[in-house]
Amino acid sequence: MEELYCQGCGAPIQTEDESKVGYAPKSALTRDEIVCKRCFRLKHYNEVQDVDMTADDFLDMLHEIGQRDAFVLKVVDLFDVHGSFIQGLNRFAGNNPVVLVGNKVDLLPKSINFNKVKNWMRRVAKNFGLKVQEVYLVSATTGTNMKELAFELERIREGKDIFVVGSTNVGKSTLINYFIQNSTEEKDVITTSYFPGTTLGFIDIPLDDRSSMIDTPGIINHYQMSHFLSKKDLKTVTPKKEVKPKVFQLNEGQALFIGGLARFDIEQADHNIGYVCYFSNDLNIHRTKLEKADELYENHLGELLSPPSEETLKKWPKMTKETFKINGQQKTDLVFSGLGWITIPEGPVTVTAYVPKGVRVIKREAII
Ligand code: GDP
Repeated sequence: MEELYCQGCGAPIQTEDESKVGYAPKSALTRDEIVCKRCFRLKHYNEVQDVDMTADDFLDMLHEIGQRDAFVLKVVDLFDVHGSFIQGLNRFAGNNPVVLVGNKVDLLPKSINFNKVKNWMRRVAKNFGLKVQEVYLVSATTGTNMKELAFELERIREGKDIFVVGSTNVGKSTLINYFIQNSTEEKDVITTSYFPGTTLGFIDIPLDDRSSMIDTPGIINHYQMSHFLSKKDLKTVTPKKEVKPKVFQLNEGQALFIGGLARFDIEQADHNIGYVCYFSNDLNIHRTKLEKADELYENHLGELLSPPSEETLKKWPKMTKETFKINGQQKTDLVFSGLGWITIPEGPVTVTAYVPKGVRVIKREAII
């Protein structure tokens, strides 16, 4: 069969996988103008949808962006900044200015110090080798700080195109849709236009006569918990509103189960400490004794300790563990990538984190 390309974004058309670039239903192939579903929705409903890309495509994308004189808007999920931070972006950042947007600020407790979080994000970016021009904390769903972001972008982009990049689930589509809805009084003015020479599935959304916002496919981060969960479990695990911190007073020899998805052991501690858990309000946390923890997991995974529910359990990996020594007075977070985190208010303590094999646990300075 002759290879067909989407006339909106240039991606090769495929009819197999809806979550990937270039998907079109078979019925669309008989039309005169063939566009992928994502371009179709943008054209007719003024709305972008998320699609994924592979690591190889990602490298091509970096190359492509690096060759343009453009502006990069990098979106991360504030609930999992490290896990949703795309590595490798720094390779072209030297030439193109990057603005870092922390989305989903509505999930963090209202009491957070915005400046502290922003400064911390700058340091994270720096550690990833990425120089950022500015950091914004927004919520694409509630609209918090979105007007300010739009206003600032208009000012600093100096007429350049804006490439919006991010890993899947950070809220990139929601954010772009916010811009689309708020920039066009008249609906139906959005068109997509083919990017000559690329088959990567960039979608072009005109901002004015000369420049565009460009939606790029999301990169899958395999080390986030979300990657292992069924749709149903993902719903339970993904916080929908402000997360209510839960404090557990724990001694040496006690453990917490986060549903059955992760486990947190206090191996050594010379006194009782309040550990603060930041997870979706719908997730149950179980306290138990260390000596009973293995048995509890073996006999009650998927029941008392759930999620994981049945669908997720079909492909549930073995747990792996990692031990962390926390010294001194500094407040520390242990982040279970894509799930949430536990704040350890002080050392010295030795704790062990268990997660399904492949999911990352990150130690960071406390952000709250
Ligand atoms: P994409 O994969 O990066 O395009 O992400 P989506 O825009 O599809 O959003 C992924 C999930 O995050 C969806 O369930 C959204 O409703 C949710 N989401 C997006 N933005 C926000 C936000 O600002 N706050 C909250 N709480 N959820 C958000």
